Amino acid sequence: MKRKINFNAGPAILPEEVLKHAAEAVIEYNNSGLSILEISHRGKAFDNIIQESCELISELCGLNNDHTVLWMHGGGRLQFSMIPMNFLAQNGSAGYIDSGHWAEEALEYATYYGDVQILASSKEHTYNRLPQWPEHISKDLAYLHYTTNNTIYGTQYKNVPDCKVPLIADMSSDIFSCKRDYASYAMFYAAAQKNIGPAGCAVAVIRKDMLQRVVRDLPPMLRYQAHAEQGSVLNTPPVFAIYASLLMLRWTKAKGIAAIEKENNQKAELLYSEVERNSLFHANVKRKEDRSTMNVCFTAKNKDDESAFLNFCEMQNIIGIKGHRSAGGFRVSIYNAMPLKDVQKLVSVMQEYEKD
Ligand code: PMP
Repeated sequence: MKRKINFNAGPAILPEEVLKHAAEAVIEYNNSGLSILEISHRGKAFDNIIQESCELISELCGLNNDHTVLWMHGGGRLQFSMIPMNFLAQNGSAGYIDSGHWAEEALEYATYYGDVQILASSKEHTYNRLPQWPEHISKDLAYLHYTTNNTIYGTQYKNVPDCKVPLIADMSSDIFSCKRDYASYAMFYAAAQKNIGPAGCAVAVIRKDMLQRVVRDLPPMLRYQAHAEQGSVLNTPPVFAIYASLLMLRWTKAKGIAAIEKENNQKAELLYSEVERNSLFHANVKRKEDRSTMNVCFTAKNKDDESAFLNFCEMQNIIGIKGHRSAGGFRVSIYNAMPLKDVQKLVSVMQEYEKD
C-alpha cells in the first residue's frame, strides 16, 4: 500500500509499526487462539493490557501514587460533561479559560451544572492568540479548566500556569508532546485520537483527593470514583482501541518524551519558517510564543490559492490540511507520530507551488 501523507487533526496518523502489530492482533492476539476483538474484558489478557497502559501513562507523565489513571468512553466531550457533573455544585462556581472552540464547548457544558466564570478569553481576536492568564483567581472556585492546545486555532500553552485552585486541563491534542509538570494538575484528560491511539477511548488522570470532592449523586458510569474502583472496567470498555493505544504508548516510551518534544519543535519550526518565507501564505498566529507545535494554521493571501493549493497537495499524495470549517485556511496537524520527513515533503511542495 502506498500510504498517504495525512495531516488530519484527528483521528490522526499512527506509526506503521503500531498499525502492523494492531493488525496482527486482530487475527490472533499473543498466540491465544483468539483475536483481540474476541477476548474478554474480564480476563487476564485484558487485565494486563489495562495495567501496563495505566502504568505507562503514569510513567510518561512522571506521576507517583497520588493520581489515578482511567480509561474512559465518550472522547473529549464526555469529559466536558463529567467534570462539572462531578466537581461543580449547583451553587458553586468554576473558572474557565476560553482559548478556542473546544475550550468554549467545555465551558458551555459546565453551565448545565453550576456557575461558570470566563476568566479570560481571546474570542474577540478570533482566538488567534492565547488569552492573558488571569492575575487574580478566586480561591472559591471549584476548579479552573483550560485547554493546553487549541486544535482548531493552533495556539498552545507550553508551561503549566500558576493556579491556586484545582487545575484541570484538556490535553486532547498535545498530551505527551512535551515535558510538563503533569503531577501539578488536579486532573488532565485527553481524547485518544491524536497522540494516544485510535478514536473510541479517552484517558482521564485524576488526583485521588479529587475523587472525594464529588458534589452530587451520579449513576456509576458518570462518577469518576466508580470507574476508579472498577479499574476502568465498570462496563465493557473498547478493548481494541485500548490495546492499540497501549502499542502507541510503548512507541512513545521507546522514543521518550524529550526526544519527541525536540522533534516536534523541529517540525513546527520548519513549517512556520516556510509559511513566513513563502510569499503566498501567512501564519494565523502571529505571536511566536503562542504558536502550537501540534497544529500549524495558516491562510492563503489570495483566496484563489485555497482550493488550488489543496488540489496541488492532493496530487502529491498529501491530504488533511484543510482548515477547520470555523477557522478556514489551512491546518497542518503534526502530532507525535508525524515523521519529520513528511513535514519536509510538505515544505518542498509549498515551495514548488509558489514557483508554479
Ligand atoms: N478537546 C480538544 C482539544 C479537541 O481537539 C477535541 C477534538 N478534536 C475535543 C476536545 C473533542 O473530542 P471528541 O470529539 O472526542 O469529543
